[in-house]
Amino acid sequence: MQYGGRFPLAALCLGVLLCAPIAAWGQSRESERIALMDEIRDDVSHTAELIQGEPLDPRVEDALLTVPRHEFVPLAQRRHAYENRPLPIGYGQTISQPYIVALMTDLLDPQPDDVVFELGTGSGYQAAVLAELVAEVHSVEIVPQLAASARTRLADLGYDNVQATHGDGYYGKPGAAPFDAIIVTAAATHIPPPLVEQLRPGGRMIIPVGPAFHLQHLMFVEKDAAGAVRTRSVLPVSFVPLTGGH
Ligand code: SAH
Repeated sequence: MQYGGRFPLAALCLGVLLCAPIAAWGQSRESERIALMDEIRDDVSHTAELIQGEPLDPRVEDALLTVPRHEFVPLAQRRHAYENRPLPIGYGQTISQPYIVALMTDLLDPQPDDVVFELGTGSGYQAAVLAELVAEVHSVEIVPQLAASARTRLADLGYDNVQATHGDGYYGKPGAAPFDAIIVTAAATHIPPPLVEQLRPGGRMIIPVGPAFHLQHLMFVEKDAAGAVRTRSVLPVSFVPLTGGH
């Protein structure tokens, strides 16, 4: 009884000491996203001659300012979540650098009614960014554990317009095709023919092409209304390799 009056005060002090950082950790971290967006804009202007000099679409900027990247990285990486670099997400895979996510998303010219296919769900971050901008995202991941955790994460965050499934994305998703846009987030040695086939006339694809663990080229692929395909190289990039049995 002697300590009866003091214990709640002590508990309160301890609670404040422990809870303040925990509460800060749970914050939306919006100011960090704003600072990150400044760095992304700098990168965009430094690479302007490679990417045709256009600033990012404000809708793409808004999507990056909205999606909580810290929710998509392992706990041990959370303090780095708003650094403009790729981060490990386990199983030898990475979440892409935010500048690259912004650039690839912008190049896809995502429209509100679009249906988009993503090869390589990874953490689910790129899928979430796209989900802010388009009607439907179909994302396929070959590592079963990553596919399962991304699906849970996206559902918990309320991204109900993303279908995240386990499988080999090289073959696309014929049941949901044709797609207005396709994004490949692992480096392929060639542009997968099934993905070209599943691109709608007028559709856009963005894909890193090149040898595994070497510099690759980010390629922009366009299918015109008549079905003819044109490609151009945008800039050198470095992605984890596309795997699977093809
Ligand atoms: N878009 C992801 C980054 C992915 S890294 C994100 O925002 O976090 C590339 C991912 O592609 C890895 O998770 C890798 O396992 C996956 N991948 C590689 N080959 C694949 C294939 N054939 N089909 C589906 N996913 C593949």
